[in-house]
Amino acid sequence: KKIIIAIDGYSSTGKSTVAKQLAKALGYIYVDTGAMYRAITLYAMRKGYIDESQFEQEKLEKALPEIQIKFEINPKSGLAEVLLDGENVEREIRTLAVSNQVSKIAAVSAVRKKLVEQQNQMGKDKGIVMDGRDIGTVVFPNAELKLFMTATAKDRAERRFLELKERGEDVTYEDVLKNVVDRDHIDSTRKDSPLRQASDAVKIDNSNLTLEDQFKQILGLAKA
Ligand code: C5P
Repeated sequence: KKIIIAIDGYSSTGKSTVAKQLAKALGYIYVDTGAMYRAITLYAMRKGYIDESQFEQEKLEKALPEIQIKFEINPKSGLAEVLLDGENVEREIRTLAVSNQVSKIAAVSAVRKKLVEQQNQMGKDKGIVMDGRDIGTVVFPNAELKLFMTATAKDRAERRFLELKERGEDVTYEDVLKNVVDRDHIDSTRKDSPLRQASDAVKIDNSNLTLEDQFKQILGLAKA
């Protein structure tokens, strides 16, 4: 029987790595909801609605119904990549510049409403692994398996720093650490759907686990 697997947790805890592995092992679809919030953020940045010093929230809210977020499968990797109004923005949404604005965009109720509706639709046929911040609490409160991932801020920032470096971004470890800490704060203190561990979620602290051990543990839960 196909189920819904909800994976939540703080920034850069390795949610997407686990989610991708799980989806592959089970033949499920993987949906990265952070990519959807990032794509809307990129839209707002391009329009000049948001930067470090200002946010024209009303303009974004007005434009929201017209913004189209979709996924397409990359035939090479087999993974879904995000489209913003038909344009593949998978690379651009991963920059630190977007990461530095995304939590402000994700705190807007109208943005969450739009994306949560779309996410609900994607889970209609089950057989899905979805990761984010509110999947087990809001998007799929009845998900059959919920995971909540944690790791120390230092471990998370190190991982994200290496990823960004690999992609050729000119960032410092301190910048990345600040981004991780700031996002955790905004995500867990916002009014609408703050980041919380669902009461029935299994907590996975991966600071001291190898990816392989962690994955074995989680696959066991999914098959139980
Ligand atoms: O998962 P990722 O780090 O790419 O998410 C980027 C940001 O999008 C998070 O820091 C959070 O502000 C927002 N987000 C959210 N709810 C989700 C997924 C992401 O608020 N379900």
